[in-house]
Amino acid sequence: MSQSIFKNIWLPYTQMQTCNTPIIVEQTQGSRIILKDGTELIDGIASWWTACHGYNHPYIADQVKSQLEKMPHIMFGGIVHEPALMLAEKLSNLLPGSLNKVFFTESGSVSVEVAMKMAIQFWLNHNQLNKTKILSFYGGYHGDTLATMAVCDPDEGMHSLFKEVLPKQYISALPSTLELQKYFVNFLEHHHHEIAAILVEPLVQGAGGMLFHEPEVLSFLRKQADHYDILLIFDEIFTGLGRTGSLFACNQAEIIPDIITLSKALSGGTMPLAATIAQDHVYNGFLSDQDTHALMHGPTFMANPLACACGNASLDLFNNYDWFGNVRSIESQLQQELAPCQQLDQVKNVRVKGAIGVVELYKITNINLLKQQFLAQHVWIRPFRNIIYLTPAFTISSSELSHLTQTIYKVLAG
Ligand SMILES: *Cc1c(COP(=O)(O)O)cnc(C)c1O
Repeated sequence: MSQSIFKNIWLPYTQMQTCNTPIIVEQTQGSRIILKDGTELIDGIASWWTACHGYNHPYIADQVKSQLEKMPHIMFGGIVHEPALMLAEKLSNLLPGSLNKVFFTESGSVSVEVAMKMAIQFWLNHNQLNKTKILSFYGGYHGDTLATMAVCDPDEGMHSLFKEVLPKQYISALPSTLELQKYFVNFLEHHHHEIAAILVEPLVQGAGGMLFHEPEVLSFLRKQADHYDILLIFDEIFTGLGRTGSLFACNQAEIIPDIITLSKALSGGTMPLAATIAQDHVYNGFLSDQDTHALMHGPTFMANPLACACGNASLDLFNNYDWFGNVRSIESQLQQELAPCQQLDQVKNVRVKGAIGVVELYKITNINLLKQQFLAQHVWIRPFRNIIYLTPAFTISSSELSHLTQTIYKVLAG
């Protein structure tokens, strides 16, 4: 079997010539990944932090089963259905302010593309033909499609190869100090007439390096966006739905973006699902007697009923157990148990926010070896660049979490 694994499969972000043989997974349960040979791994990252309530949650499974019997899929052009209407209503009730208009897609990257198109078309509809650029930030990650690559950190490695073919966007340092704020304002003073939207991952820049910033940075951005007539987009695909310790990161900043994107944990990690949600005033910018003012986007599988059923079930679960208490306990356990890593020579920084634990090294010299060492300890942890991180399910037990943190220490300490 292992000989033939690579016969037809092409893996993501992987040099196929030198990569380790991937493990073959048979089953999942809670925070466990069960391999074909019966080995159980404790999952430290919940499948790129999607499986927030743990794998195979029986409530989500039941809801999917009953939706499967009724209607697994139907096109969304000219047709709506209860699972989508219900999920849109739930989301608008959970989100602050007038974030009320929900546009469904099937992946995070596409939801960001839709947000960018929305922002650009919003200004076009207002006859502002020059506001076509997006301003994003170093350290950011917004997806792998061509348009989203252009708003990711340009030097971060994953996409730098494509630099020359990507549309030119503006990328800035996050205005996290007075000096950077002055620089930022000066930049806007000169370029605001070209900028449709500021795009940022609030509180935590995830896949770009698990970097944290203070909520004040976000209120500063809100203020500048208002002042210079620029829309503010929060990409909460990583931070949304509990991960940072509030339901949404924007709750902690106490400000409301004009557009927000959600995916990852939106379906509880069960089906591909994403949403771009706009405030009423953005939506109203598309209302007119001209068809060309309509939002020109429509993925084939948008608002897939099975995925929406997962989304509805997952949001129900946020009301059915103390996820907030769990995230608080995970946070304090991560703080306590990762702290000893700080004493190790190769460790540059240890940081924790909500259910996110990060051990940043100066350098990881052999990342494949490190991955193998984690596997040998029966944990599923996927370091990238110089980062080892944990984003466990909110339902992980404290002994499972201890095994993860202790393994990181043990492997690093040698
Ligand atoms: C994962 C992620 C994306 C991209 O989502 P995909 O579903 O992989 O396309 C975009 N933005 C952020 C913040 C993410 O974490």
